[in-house]
Amino acid sequence: MRVIAVMNQKGGVGKTTSSVNLSAGLARQGRKVCLIDLDPQGHGSLHFGLEALGNTPTVYDVFTRRASLADIRRLVAPNVWVVPSNVDLAAAEVELVDSPHRETVLRNAIAALSDQQDFDYIVMDCPPSLGLLTINALTAAREVFIPLQPHFFGLQGLSKLLETTALVARRLNRDLKVSGILLCLYDSGTRLAADVRDDLNEFLAQSDPQAPWANAKIFNSRIRRNIKLAEAPSFGQAIFDYAPKCAGAHDYEAFVAEVIAAEPAAQDVSAKAA
Ligand code: ADP
Ligand code: MG
Repeated sequence: MRVIAVMNQKGGVGKTTSSVNLSAGLARQGRKVCLIDLDPQGHGSLHFGLEALGNTPTVYDVFTRRASLADIRRLVAPNVWVVPSNVDLAAAEVELVDSPHRETVLRNAIAALSDQQDFDYIVMDCPPSLGLLTINALTAAREVFIPLQPHFFGLQGLSKLLETTALVARRLNRDLKVSGILLCLYDSGTRLAADVRDDLNEFLAQSDPQAPWANAKIFNSRIRRNIKLAEAPSFGQAIFDYAPKCAGAHDYEAFVAEVIAAEPAAQDVSAKAA
């Protein structure tokens, strides 16, 4: 099972869009996926048509140890389960502050899944902060994907983000690796996008070989700016259902293929899917 945190403390960079369409795309390739929505805004849940109203249990109940992930996850499409979130989750950061195991709640909840081995992927859509919810995701994850907008301010905050992964790797999760940076909202043909890519490559080439991001790469696939990607959430559909022929669907399909190509034992998984 691959456990992936999609993180960037900036909002609006494409975390949720990428988490949702990655999950949906992997599922279409026969992978069994669980998306955990870790943002109190609940955009990932809504994007899959799930609105957690009233007493519907959410990931908040996992953080307060009132429910298990298996109790809460909902099947939203063939092979895709979503553990929904809503605004209640904002309280978890505060409520957990004094708990001695506050950073490992999610990791323990994943380990407690009795059918863990049935899942090929867990994808965690992080909130736009480096707070306790993101720390929980990094503690539970093996891999980090960083969506980034290639503009002038896109790299701002990146070193803080990477320092956080290093801190978690040192203290809580030795297995954590930043595997890739995904350029989202990409305006191809602009000088700026190319400059940001060059800066990033240079930065990665100079990184400390012990750092969690030492082997990170910029994914070859880039997600172009595409209006259909912005429309799809309000229909509660992944891009492959909402507009399967648009550039956004094409870009996420290529990204999914790249992610699948990096599966540690690709043959085993495809044998299982067949
Ligand atoms: P985050 O989760 O990092 O805050 P989102 O994935 O929610 O970012 O994206 C922010 C906004 O931009 C959303 O309204 C989303 O629909 C839109 N969006 C994301 N990616 C694209 C894209 N490639 N083209 C056009 N709009 C996009
Ligand atoms: Mg989001």
